[in-house]
Amino acid sequence: MGKVTGFMEFERLEQAHEPVAQRKTHFREFITPLSQQEAKQQAARCMDCGTPFCTFSCPLHNVAPEFNDLVYNEDWEKAYHVLSSTNNFPEFTSRVCPALCENGCIMNYTQRAMGVKSIERAIITNAWNQGWVKPEPPKEHKDKSVAVVGSGPAGLACAQQLARMGYAVTVFEKNKRPGGLLRYGIPDFKLDKSLIDRRIAQMENEGVQFRCSTSIGVPDHPHGIWNDSERTIDVSELLRDFSVVVLAVGSETPRDLQVKGRDLKGIHFALEYLPVQNKHNASEPFDEDISAKDRKVLIIGGGDTGSDCLGTAIRQGAEKVLQIDLGPKPPETYDKSMVWPNWPAVMRTSTSQEEGGERDYAISTKEFLSDGEGRVRGVKAVRLEWMKDPVTGRRTFKEIPDSEFEIESDLVLLAMGFLHPSSPVMDAFGVQTDMRGNAQAAYEGKDAFRTNVPKVFAAGDCRRGQSLVVRALAEGRRCAEAVDKFLSDEQN
Ligand SMILES: Cc1cc2nc3c(=O)[nH]c(=O)nc-3n(C[C@H](O)[C@H](O)[C@H](O)COP(=O)(O)OP(=O)(O)OC[C@H]3O[C@@H](n4cnc5c(N)ncnc54)[C@H](O)[C@@H]3O)c2cc1C
Repeated sequence: MGKVTGFMEFERLEQAHEPVAQRKTHFREFITPLSQQEAKQQAARCMDCGTPFCTFSCPLHNVAPEFNDLVYNEDWEKAYHVLSSTNNFPEFTSRVCPALCENGCIMNYTQRAMGVKSIERAIITNAWNQGWVKPEPPKEHKDKSVAVVGSGPAGLACAQQLARMGYAVTVFEKNKRPGGLLRYGIPDFKLDKSLIDRRIAQMENEGVQFRCSTSIGVPDHPHGIWNDSERTIDVSELLRDFSVVVLAVGSETPRDLQVKGRDLKGIHFALEYLPVQNKHNASEPFDEDISAKDRKVLIIGGGDTGSDCLGTAIRQGAEKVLQIDLGPKPPETYDKSMVWPNWPAVMRTSTSQEEGGERDYAISTKEFLSDGEGRVRGVKAVRLEWMKDPVTGRRTFKEIPDSEFEIESDLVLLAMGFLHPSSPVMDAFGVQTDMRGNAQAAYEGKDAFRTNVPKVFAAGDCRRGQSLVVRALAEGRRCAEAVDKFLSDEQN
């Protein structure tokens, strides 16, 4: 523990954000990391409380008390090694993670939590600047090979861990460049893509091979799934050529809203819209330009994907933006004694939501309205009343009579979450799915991450369902351990 009285002396310090008026004019990152001096002071707030709920709350089980102490004592290089011992890519999580660790911080119970995320960012920024982040090629190579299908955070973490263990790893990705949703889903203003390129270079120097624009198993993916592939490799070929195949194909099937008028022009899934802007920024080609410029944008879905659409639409020059949700407005406050250290359902405002637009709740969309020329001009919606079922305790809703109203919009973005991985990909491998359509494989135990198909493992959103970058990284790392265990068995 760095400074015994630190938690009483120092207030939590937030990283500086570029003012809204300025940052709305570009697509670059706008958060400045803490200086080393500031990070040292913030690290002094950690009480090393003995039962580190931060470590417990983080899916990667980061050892925040350890690296906080090292930062306070200015041993930045060791702090980097401690941080990277549980997290392959802290520069990603320190930008996009909701920081489950901070929610679990014991100080969150009575005052303001440790700024674990900002300290993490200071450590990894400094480590890259100092040249401490180097390729870590294996000392010995093994004679077994692994194909990782999908280059999102789960695939990348799995590939890096296995390559460092000595396996010959090839990552196959249907899109043009590696990164999965880090590259084409998350907007550049939250995560600069040069950070991914830098890691890919590191991984290549560790021996990982990347084969992009290459779809495994299926040439054509269903509507709503981004596909840049130029070639297809058959599943049998992959199973023939590699000792193990890891599926890290994400949860790409978007939830649709099949109401009257769905086929009108101007209605898009979030992941038809967001990748276009990221590709624009990277000067990559794309088929259809979808822009919110001068449009009245309606985002259906109140979550993070919707919030990313909002920030993007604002930057593109939308006339106005409304984000609506089926669920009721969350409470502004909550009783910590009932919830901590778990994640509370509470009203949150993202940096994009700070920038403009409006939000509305408890609304169900009944119909998309046509302008008479095949383009959407708005939606017909109805207000909902939410209540708890007295018997089951479950939340239910009913439509409020005579509450029907229209929302004007000439660009509707569907951001209602993702259901499961692409079914044709699962079918091509013959992988059994669970009730939700995700690859059926355990998280723990002797068969961890193994599907019903011999030699085929599954990790990340395609196994657990749509989630978070930090969870995908944790899955990728654990899956690599399971693959290593499997391949270390002489018989496999
Ligand atoms: C718009 C958006 C914003 C988000 N923002 C955040 C955030 O701020 N913070 C956060 O923690 N989480 C965020 N998430 C969630 C997070 O991005 C995901 O949980 C995470 O990326 C899942 O990682 P993954 O590796 O399992 O899958 P993905 O990142 O989805 O990667 C899967 C990859 O597999 C490839 N693939 C699929 N099928 C094939 C095939 N047959 N052949 C070859 N390649 C294939 C896909 O092209 C894709 O690149 C966001 C999600 C979205 C949609």
